[in-house]
Amino acid sequence: MPPISIDAPVAIQRLMRFLSIEGITGQEAAIAKEIQAALKEAGVPSAAMRFDDANTRIPAPTQTGNLIVNLPGTRKDAKPILFMTHMDTVPLCAGAKPVRAANRITNTANTALGGDNRTGCAALVTLVAELIRQKLPHPPITMLFTVREESGLFGAKHVNPADLGDVSMGFNIDGRAAADITIGAIGADRWEVNIQGKASHAGVYPEHGISATMVASLALADVFEEGWFGKVVKNGKEGTSNVGQYGDAEGKSAGNATNVVTDFVHIKGESRSHDAKFVREISAAFKRAFDTAAKKVKDHRGKPAKVQFVSRLDYVPFRLPDDAPVVKRAQLAAKSIKLKPTLRVTNGGLDANWMVKHGIPTITIGAGQNEIHTVKEYVDLKEFEAGCRLAVALATS
Ligand SMILES: [Zn+2]
Repeated sequence: MPPISIDAPVAIQRLMRFLSIEGITGQEAAIAKEIQAALKEAGVPSAAMRFDDANTRIPAPTQTGNLIVNLPGTRKDAKPILFMTHMDTVPLCAGAKPVRAANRITNTANTALGGDNRTGCAALVTLVAELIRQKLPHPPITMLFTVREESGLFGAKHVNPADLGDVSMGFNIDGRAAADITIGAIGADRWEVNIQGKASHAGVYPEHGISATMVASLALADVFEEGWFGKVVKNGKEGTSNVGQYGDAEGKSAGNATNVVTDFVHIKGESRSHDAKFVREISAAFKRAFDTAAKKVKDHRGKPAKVQFVSRLDYVPFRLPDDAPVVKRAQLAAKSIKLKPTLRVTNGGLDANWMVKHGIPTITIGAGQNEIHTVKEYVDLKEFEAGCRLAVALATS
């Protein structure tokens, strides 16, 4: 087989085009439309593209479902495969102004750029364009462009696996270096707690009040003392936890006057581990601490505070075996284009977490995103190009 080449200038143009479209998490309609237009220009018929109804199941307003594209195979003997990437960007990307520098795309606005994950979108459209332009033989391919990855992997979670066809393995593009092959990722819980106390004049009748702030503080002090906060190491298991938001129901200050006993506190946090059971243990430690603290803080009649603690599975951890066919295929494809593949496991969640849960072994590669979720974000064009070539190698190997 001749060495893999792509039309790099056109691929970079495509990336600039996608970076210039705003599409923060939950608002993917415009970028989805642009991706469809670019796919049509590459020769994909409209009939091969459709949206699923994942957005009707996502518990947050979401403009569209996931975009699913089917490319019939030219090698009928080969098993169908899945390529995927997410269309949304973090809210910090709103208003980005991408500019092309020598080997980079940077941003003149004081926002994040959105290379996470427009690099993935451009790499997948480039893959399709090159397969068609160069008439490269390939198996049947399903392409999945997900929504709401950044706000909780929702598009991948709520996709119906039956909508993806009978795919045997998946390749997700969402990372920095092309040849960094992610074969495992952490699992996480998000939790929130409502602490209901009772207001009272803090100077005249302090004993009539029940301070929700005091309940929260005692609970968090307990969690800290017992070693469940931050980096958590217990009985050979490791994980992390965090308290991200501490305020009232609207995210404003819990309590607003020094002379009123605080009647309500709302706190949001998370727990993570590569061990699914340990994720739940960490969340349970927080719940225990809030329940115990609520019983300690009472009014003059002995009435305690009320606590409502809810935790929800954000995503389950996964770890593919080093010798899984999808991992082998990725390593061979990388070597075939003279990249040095490395296998890695990440402490962030990926759409791949849900695909593995849906029964599709999925690895993740990169395509040049850098310093993501910060105002210093940029795209490394050499890695972008490498990611595009690796995608072509994966599809044609
Ligand atoms: Zn991403």
